[in-house]
Amino acid sequence: FAITMDQLQLYEDLGKGNYGTVKKVLHKPTNVPMAMKEIRLELDQAKLNAIIMELDILHRAVAPEIVEFYGAFFIESCVYYCMEYMDAGSMDKLQAYGRDSPSSTPVATPTASTEELAGALQLTPPNTIYSGKRTGGVPEEVLARVVASMVRGLKFLKDELQIMHRDVKPTNVLVNRKGEVKLCDFGVSGQLEKSLAKTNIGCQSYMAPERIRSESLNTSPTYTVSSDVWSLGLSTIEMALGHYPYPPETYSNVFAQLTAIVHGDPPQLPEEFSENARDWVARCMMKRPEDRATYKELLEHPFLLEDSQREVDMPGWVARACAARERAQQEKERQEMLGESS
Ligand code: ATP
Ligand code: MG
Repeated sequence: FAITMDQLQLYEDLGKGNYGTVKKVLHKPTNVPMAMKEIRLELDQAKLNAIIMELDILHRAVAPEIVEFYGAFFIESCVYYCMEYMDAGSMDKLQAYGRDSPSSTPVATPTASTEELAGALQLTPPNTIYSGKRTGGVPEEVLARVVASMVRGLKFLKDELQIMHRDVKPTNVLVNRKGEVKLCDFGVSGQLEKSLAKTNIGCQSYMAPERIRSESLNTSPTYTVSSDVWSLGLSTIEMALGHYPYPPETYSNVFAQLTAIVHGDPPQLPEEFSENARDWVARCMMKRPEDRATYKELLEHPFLLEDSQREVDMPGWVARACAARERAQQEKERQEMLGESS
């Protein structure tokens, strides 16, 4: 069946990305809640039609680790894309609240004296491996479960649909209260990719070194599926730390950040993680694409074998992380109210 706008009841915004807004909606004929992504594109009808046709292969992307696709349509110059609503949101917004102990509550605004900051920066010359302090982050057993789903999802896309994801990062890893972890926003439409491409090289790049090189030289893409493996490794470290793994001083400077990724040593998991976890991440974060592990190797690695043999209470973790996130949100709103009234 084809979805149309007049079948949808619109609810709140779920988030904003570089290209548009994602809203919660209700599909009235079926009573199914959905997430609707609006992508504004200045394109002619023919190109918009081509995108809608290309998106159609998403109907074949049915796997437990892939967010279900319900349909797409366009109105004027906007593409609307309807997918499964994931009621715990994306990992970037959960990772900071993942740890249970009160001492690990996320640091909303890191506090440090200017001397401390200057000292810290001096301890991080450009070529040393930086992983940073954990500001929250996901416990190892949950991390293993999350990345196992990601690898299975990526392997499915590659083996069954012959596509690479191209945009692996925590905002594209969605979670629900059942404890399921699914990937979204993978590149199926060449036309859509082309239309979006220009605007993106923002801060917090998850691109592999070879991909940064190829995009900055503007040559035809030479990267392959192993570039996704790098992004997977970087996302794993981010979820473990609770923040993006490259040093903060590179956040505001795209050039410094890309230089660090291309020329610096790759970041790694902090020492408090097990040897297996650290080795698994290191196998993703090899600078040379041909040195990186394949999905099969990653699934057969002791880190994920151990995961498959143990019970992890994912619904429980999701519930606690969501509750902590709500408390932090309320606290923030309370502070803002106090700030306004004083
Ligand atoms: P980018 O624009 O670079 O892809 P992004 O992934 O953050 O960044 P969007 O894909 O537009 O941007 O998504 C915005 C936010 O909406 C996400 O960060 C996520 O929290 C939320 N979101 C997206 N899809 C869903 C979904 N199916 N269910 C629930 N929340 C979603
Ligand atoms: Mg996204």
